[in-house]
Amino acid sequence: MSNYLKFHKNDLFGPVYEIPLSEIYSLELTQSNNFRKRLALLFKMMQEMNTATNENELFDLAIDYTGRVLNVDRASIAIVDEEEETITLTALYGVSADHPKNISINLKNCAIGHTYLTDFLSYREILDECTCPIVSNLHKAGMHSTMVAPIISGTTRFGTLNTANSKSHGYDNDDIHLFAQITAILATHLYKSQLQNESKRQKEVLLEKNDALENLAYMDSLTQIYNRRYINNIIEHAIMQKDQSKSGLSIILLDIDFFKKINDEKGHTEGDNVLCKLTKLIKSKISENHVFARWGGEEFLIACLHTSSNDAYALAEKLRISIDVEGSSHLKNLTVSLGVASLIENDSIDTLIHRADNALYQSKENGRNLTTLFN
Ligand code: GH3
Ligand code: MG
Ligand code: MG
Repeated sequence: MSNYLKFHKNDLFGPVYEIPLSEIYSLELTQSNNFRKRLALLFKMMQEMNTATNENELFDLAIDYTGRVLNVDRASIAIVDEEEETITLTALYGVSADHPKNISINLKNCAIGHTYLTDFLSYREILDECTCPIVSNLHKAGMHSTMVAPIISGTTRFGTLNTANSKSHGYDNDDIHLFAQITAILATHLYKSQLQNESKRQKEVLLEKNDALENLAYMDSLTQIYNRRYINNIIEHAIMQKDQSKSGLSIILLDIDFFKKINDEKGHTEGDNVLCKLTKLIKSKISENHVFARWGGEEFLIACLHTSSNDAYALAEKLRISIDVEGSSHLKNLTVSLGVASLIENDSIDTLIHRADNALYQSKENGRNLTTLFN
């Protein structure tokens, strides 16, 4: 057995040998061929850990290589939940498939938990004097020695890597060195995985925030329909599409008649309510080909994609009549005036909207509650 291990007797957990993790680098190693072979195995483990995709794969690799490199009967990983003060055996090597998994016990009541809280690697070979339930179970299962090392990366502690053997193993410096190496490599990978998970989570939060911001940039906050910026993009994009000019692109400008009066008589909040109710009503009358937006104030714009001027006029009339009829009961006898224009050759967004605006002006001039198609 390595003479670097110092003997202690702990009241609760019985006789134990310990070595500070900080002294492991100074252990004298055999440099034997066998040691080199075991180092090569360790290198293989490191390469496999590089391609692991989650923590469970890392655990499985660590216990599998611990079993092979240290030639022990059992190996396990214990993960600690400091808030809950529990330690849970999550990965097990050398036990039958029906062995209970995820056994959780109080951190302070177990020898493994004790080592977790220290910066020591511990070795036990008298198991029957230990009150720890995990060690007692190992003893009952015919094990005669255990070795435990805390999995630590910087200031982050994850849990412990544990081994048990049916013989009093008498671990030498090579064994201790290799065991500590496996633990350190595992800790580094767990830390890396934790950072990756954290940055993935932060990226998701950022994307969600971006989505929300994008929504804000394109939505009208009062009516929750698209705003002028969005509908401008839609119309500009539609003008650039060749098939759109063939099948027709029409726009409807809709302006509430005498809206100022509602504000003046009933107050601005009631005015806002009317804007929201009107939005709802229009939304229920238009189809997927129609993009509906608040153009500004009490003015709305409907971009009718793949729609001829006659069909757009018919839709505008349908809206005007519904608002006049249905709106009379719950929209304070509201009426609207509308202007319709369709895309012609060499049109820009400005010339198209200008014609719709002229048509709307005609509707107002001719007495309101009217639709005019720009010809
Ligand atoms: P017209 O028939 O000529 O269109 O008359 P009008 O009163 O509807 O038009 P005018 O341009 O004189 O007034 C529009 C009013 O709309 C003035 C403005 O205070 C009001 N308004 C604009 N945006 C909002 C809003 O978000 N909420 C409320 N409550 N009022 C608004
Ligand atoms: Mg108005
Ligand atoms: Mg107006």
